[in-house]
Amino acid sequence: MKRLSEIYSGKAKTVFRTDNPEKLIMEFRDSLTAFDGRKKSTAPKKGYYNAQIAAKLFQLLGEKGVKTHFDSMLSKTEMVVDAVDIIKIEVIVRNIAAGSLTKKYPFKTGQKLDPPILIFDYKSDEYGDPMINDDIAIALGLATKDELFRIRELALRINSILVEYLDERNLLLPDFKLEFGRLGDEIVLADEISCDTCRFWDKTTGESLDKDVFRFDKGDLVAAYREVARRIVPEIFAD
Ligand code: UDP
Repeated sequence: MKRLSEIYSGKAKTVFRTDNPEKLIMEFRDSLTAFDGRKKSTAPKKGYYNAQIAAKLFQLLGEKGVKTHFDSMLSKTEMVVDAVDIIKIEVIVRNIAAGSLTKKYPFKTGQKLDPPILIFDYKSDEYGDPMINDDIAIALGLATKDELFRIRELALRINSILVEYLDERNLLLPDFKLEFGRLGDEIVLADEISCDTCRFWDKTTGESLDKDVFRFDKGDLVAAYREVARRIVPEIFAD
């Protein structure tokens, strides 16, 4: 597969066309930002760890019958994915209260949320990713009622699979963000699932092993991402 021109460069990933119009290459970079891009940095191997974690979780979900855009890994940081029509909704699933939820509402950090809370944000840098509901999503033409129903079902199914899988690796999943895309008649999971888009807490110590380490200067970001990679993709540490 040939990497052609760049289509889009986001905060942590760059997307390229390929010689196959149905496939794209998504490159995971070492850069990272937080607080709407106001805090910026780079961290060596961050792109590698995130790419490997995302690939493994996409494969896991695929095995469990959840369709994703994942195709294969072209290199340690380059993922081949299906070219999908991205739905401009950030789907946030919350199992334990943390982050903005505890700022906007009287939830205590660490409070269990059972059943999980699902939040839809409008994916728009211009508008600052505001929270939306189904009526706004439909009125803006972001998705149809049926698509929203399907997205909700998929997000909850993905959550159950991930919570169980991570629990076996002594990790809690307080919350995470998903993006979906249209591929033919189907809705498939797109974007990434990684330390940049999930909160991962060590189940024993409660320690953050995700982007919060960077957001709140909690310590060594690369060490935290490496630790999550060790638990999710131990095979990359074999040699
Ligand atoms: N998240 C993300 N991208 C966003 C917003 C949120 O990946 O643009 C993830 C974030 O990493 C966390 C979860 O979604 O795991 C919930 O984030 P929250 O709304 O609490 O925002 P924050 O507290 O990070 O501002």
